Parts: sequence; C-alpha cells; structure tokens
Amino acid sequence: MQTKKTIEFFNNIPAKHCPECGDHIVEHAESYLMECDRCLTKRED
Ligand SMILES: [Zn+2]
Repeated sequence: MQTKKTIEFFNNIPAKHCPECGDHIVEHAESYLMECDRCLTKRED
C-alpha cells in the first residue's frame, strides 16, 4: 500500500529535535534552521 510505504520512508529519516522546546523538527530544504517553526516564529517578536 502506498500509504504504508510513505510512513516507512519517513520513519527512516533521523528525527531532529528543537533545542528550545524539544519538539520534533520536520526537515526542510533550509536545514540550517536548528529550531522548530514555533520557536523560530517566537524569536521574530
Ligand atoms: Zn521549538
């Protein structure tokens, strides 16, 4: 099944965690970002 293969694919990617809140970070092309979207947004205030 297509869905199951997709899940297995994502499980094989090593998870990064935000040093600020410990939340899981989804890897983007801009992987220089060390914090999750939530913390990055907070930082802009
Ligand atoms: Zn965070």
